[in-house]
Amino acid sequence: MPLAVIAIGGNSLILDDAHQSVEDQYEAAGATTDHIASLVRAGWDVAISHGNGPQVGFILRRSELSAHELHEVPLDVCGADTQGALGYSLQQNLANDFREMGITKSVATIVTQVEVSKDDPAFASPSKPIGSFMSEADAMRRRDEDGWDVVEDAGRGWRRVVASPAPMRVVELDAVKLLLAAGVVVITVGGGGIPVIADENGNLSGAAAVIDKDLASALLASELGADLLIISTAVEKVALNFGTPEERWMDEFTVDEVKRYLAEGGHFKEGSMAPKMRAVVQFLESGGKQALITDPPSLERAMRRETGTWITA
Ligand code: ADP
Ligand code: MG
Repeated sequence: MPLAVIAIGGNSLILDDAHQSVEDQYEAAGATTDHIASLVRAGWDVAISHGNGPQVGFILRRSELSAHELHEVPLDVCGADTQGALGYSLQQNLANDFREMGITKSVATIVTQVEVSKDDPAFASPSKPIGSFMSEADAMRRRDEDGWDVVEDAGRGWRRVVASPAPMRVVELDAVKLLLAAGVVVITVGGGGIPVIADENGNLSGAAAVIDKDLASALLASELGADLLIISTAVEKVALNFGTPEERWMDEFTVDEVKRYLAEGGHFKEGSMAPKMRAVVQFLESGGKQALITDPPSLERAMRRETGTWITA
């Protein structure tokens, strides 16, 4: 069976600001798992990853609000909590879809660590904002007492920033492979994986950092030798000159074209499409053959090459 790694974006888990409850998130996940179930019915083995940015934000906020009474939740544990909760939502939805379709397959979520290097340059200049805004006094106290990196955000207040290091190794890779080989659909590297660092003896410990979920998904796809990397996001296709009058929605790119457009700049926005395109380049340059970027409702049509943006090696 061919293997697809599908990275599902934040839009599949939270529709908008008015739909953030756990129930709303469950409904949203179900609207995406339908299409993943169709992929499985069409004969694909599937490993699923997902974003977790807003959900980590919610846990941190709860943690802050109750800090007078309860212990705070460290960032790596927030990652583990969201992998569990979102994995639960996805695996229950998908298993229900399978039952309705008469597919006899199990779904399992793996709490997944991803190793990063303590020497990654990202640790020298943390830039990813995390958690709520703070007063300057609180920011200075957190910096001095807890070792946080904090920055002033254009007059809006102070925020904690953490590093976004490059994913190097999926720690639970062997378990993922065993489950896939047994025909199980696996949910893994949720939120880009829990970042961990190895000491000189190889012992792992959690890092207060976040890993880009698209880069982690690309690493997973290449470590699994996947036939296809699917990035499921909020747009049906990728555009050149996105958001300008010259915008052009693209059916396909070669990896060389993507590299040229990334270098040229102005096509794929930083913080959204640019990291996805870099992830696709990484996958295709480490043995992957093809990648697809589209939105959940277009997935089946895109698999028939009727829409979506396909990128080939
Ligand atoms: P996800 O939660 O799936 O990671 P992001 O918001 O990070 O989603 O990235 C998807 C968004 O990227 C799209 O909704 C779109 O607004 C934006 N985007 C930026 N550049 C482009 C582009 N060149 N083509 C299409 N979409 C783009
Ligand atoms: Mg994103």
